[in-house]
Amino acid sequence: MKATLDHIGIAVADLEEALKFYREALGLEVEAPEDVASQHVRAHFIPAGQTALELLEATADESPIAKYVAKRGPGLHHITLRVDDIRAALAQIKAKGVRLIDESPRPGAHGSLVAFIHPSAAHGVLVELKQGGQESTERVVRPVRLGDLELVPLLDRHFRLDGGAMFGVVPKPLWEKRLPADERNRIAMAMRPLLVRGDRLMIIDAGAGEKMDPKLQEIYGFDRSESLDASLAAAGVRAEDVEIVLASHLHFDHAGGFTKKDPSGAIVPRFPRARYHANRGEFEDATHPHERNRASYFDENYVPLRDAGVLEFWDEERTIMPGVRVRRTGGHTRWHHIVYLESGGRTAVFAADLMPTTAHVDLPWIMGYDLYPVETLEFKRAFLREAIEREYLIFFEHDPRIAAGYIREKDRRLYVEPL
Ligand SMILES: [Zn+2]
Ligand SMILES: [Zn+2]
Repeated sequence: MKATLDHIGIAVADLEEALKFYREALGLEVEAPEDVASQHVRAHFIPAGQTALELLEATADESPIAKYVAKRGPGLHHITLRVDDIRAALAQIKAKGVRLIDESPRPGAHGSLVAFIHPSAAHGVLVELKQGGQESTERVVRPVRLGDLELVPLLDRHFRLDGGAMFGVVPKPLWEKRLPADERNRIAMAMRPLLVRGDRLMIIDAGAGEKMDPKLQEIYGFDRSESLDASLAAAGVRAEDVEIVLASHLHFDHAGGFTKKDPSGAIVPRFPRARYHANRGEFEDATHPHERNRASYFDENYVPLRDAGVLEFWDEERTIMPGVRVRRTGGHTRWHHIVYLESGGRTAVFAADLMPTTAHVDLPWIMGYDLYPVETLEFKRAFLREAIEREYLIFFEHDPRIAAGYIREKDRRLYVEPL
């Protein structure tokens, strides 16, 4: 088993005082906090070279951190070791008679799988094992400059979909090596809308939003510690600043964030001053679903936009604003589109559900969800050649770890070099 130190967790009693020490006395940079609501904990990450410190603040009396501080006072709480295969690591540790808190891994933040080893077995230290998810040093949102455009990958949240459905005909022993499944056979994925600063302020797709039924949120394993609002705030953007909202297609994990419930319960545009742009055929299909795609389409995500008069349709491929044009792929849905971002002689492409994760650059790795998989295959085959030859920067909307990268070819195999 190979393990690397991901971070060190420190329980704090008085956050202001703790920040004075870490931020002011030590001069370290503290990231925006994240709430882990189920644990009543707020986590403040402090990158420190290859690893990080995590200050843990209790947000309620029943929080395990509150109990820890009451019993032992503030101080070192746990260490987190990152492993490649958490199930193999647990089996190996268990075979040595080590006492575990978690016999099997459970979902952690940022699409990770985690399990704790009992401190009595680890000489007084609470040890967390972690596989997947973003590394503590990968969280910061970094804008990408492309000529006159600035591109900022956002994060709505992580969620979980059936691994089989995500990879179609690819057998589980193959995909499991790339993206591990939890006990319900689900894999962690992200929802990453893209913010574009150009002539106007634009957002492409908007994640699943906050309206979804709690039962569905549980089925899809929504990670409540993350939200598009937090991500927009980190990018310095308010909802009312957004001028254009562009839809790759209207599945709930792309269009759910287009609308929100107002205090009276009415469903209204989430971006109050924006014009929304969607393909007319996609809207027709979304509002007339059939048995094969019904679970992905919810009228509340787009019909209120049409009713409010803020939805504009395009029929043919077109330029939405200077440097930003949509191109039809079909395949995933009849009218699925990807977005070309072109400026200063360079091209980036928002690949939406054409290649939802970096694993999907392999030609036969096509989602079982796709309505017309052979169309996806033919589009991908031509598009990949183009992307390699012209060095497109590709944004992967659902990859749990890699927001963007370049497609490379070596010994006839394709892979993604992360940005
Ligand atoms: Zn989709
Ligand atoms: Zn999707």
